Amino acid sequence: MKFVDEFRDPAAVQGYIKAIANIVTRPWQIMEICGGQTHSIVKYGIDQLLPPEITLIHGPGCPVCVTPAELIDQAIALAQLPDVVLCSFGDMLRVPGTSLDLLAVKARGAAVKMVYSPLDALKMAQENPDKQVIFFAVGFETTAPTTAMAVYQAEKLGLKNFSLLVAHVLVPPAMAAILSAPNCQIQGFLLAGHVCTVMGYQEYEAIAENYQIPLIVTGFEPLDIVQGIYLCVKQLEEGRSHIENQYHRVVQAAGNPTAQQLVTEIFETVPRIWRGIGEIPQSGFGLREKYAAFDASRKFKLDYAAVTPPQTSPCISGEILQGQKKPKQCPAFGTSCTPEHPLGAPMVSSEGACAAYYRYGGSISPRNEVVNKSN
Ligand code: SF4
Repeated sequence: MKFVDEFRDPAAVQGYIKAIANIVTRPWQIMEICGGQTHSIVKYGIDQLLPPEITLIHGPGCPVCVTPAELIDQAIALAQLPDVVLCSFGDMLRVPGTSLDLLAVKARGAAVKMVYSPLDALKMAQENPDKQVIFFAVGFETTAPTTAMAVYQAEKLGLKNFSLLVAHVLVPPAMAAILSAPNCQIQGFLLAGHVCTVMGYQEYEAIAENYQIPLIVTGFEPLDIVQGIYLCVKQLEEGRSHIENQYHRVVQAAGNPTAQQLVTEIFETVPRIWRGIGEIPQSGFGLREKYAAFDASRKFKLDYAAVTPPQTSPCISGEILQGQKKPKQCPAFGTSCTPEHPLGAPMVSSEGACAAYYRYGGSISPRNEVVNKSN
């Protein structure tokens, strides 16, 4: 298949592995920001092919995984209101809130539906004028334009029965938070190619400059990833810290200005709590005042109080999402926590690191065993 097979060519991948081995002179720790890249790395065993000097750290790039339990509890409370249909992506329905997930609430009779797009939820609202349709909007900047389009169209259509519970999160503030942590040992980043397709990569220049760190816009196929690692290691070895675009067949520096314009029209940046990490300033999208009528958290008065999640769970998803530990270092991995009975979001989502390790058997080699030596 064009644009797929050539990026899975084992000989080409091995060529870059050799090229990395030829230039590396000391240990380097590189974080891939996106859960899709984590899945490729574990699925194709890329971490095991690399020279021992290179440690890959899995980042928080799974929006379902970082959605806080408090927001899921809010979605559950909304789903239980009369005449409400709560819609979201399939992964989101299985992520535990404080005590339940949305599928459990559906089993008890609430109208919870899986959709593939916010535009499906919009259509549902048009076809069911007697129902209030709420879309639980989750995703990075990649999916924000589609969510924004749903609100834009709902307004044009004069729909009064469509709204959003917004959980969109943004990559650059999360990277800045990770890099600002006192024990951070990350020396290079593979940026998420799909996020940069929408947003471009000019906004990352300040991060490369402020933290003196190489950032490589990288795709998702095995060859993309080893090329991205090669470019990152080359910069590190040469003492450079710039943005480079490995994924130039898709990503342009300015991204997609039309999509950005739509997102800016509908959303503004707001503080957002990241599961297992805490609040990161200006790291989420919220609806602008002009579109407040489409904000489910303002539209519906909930008899709801945020509950602090219990501390008894063995889940270490916070450390997994910050790249401080690998899934197999969790005592519950593969025993009390499996994709059938997940204790935490990284085991649920198709982009979650725990699910990737469970599915593909990722291992912790000695070089990867303790990523953050201070923990
Ligand atoms: S294996 Fe399960 S319990 Fe452990 S960190 Fe991952 S999701 Fe949480």
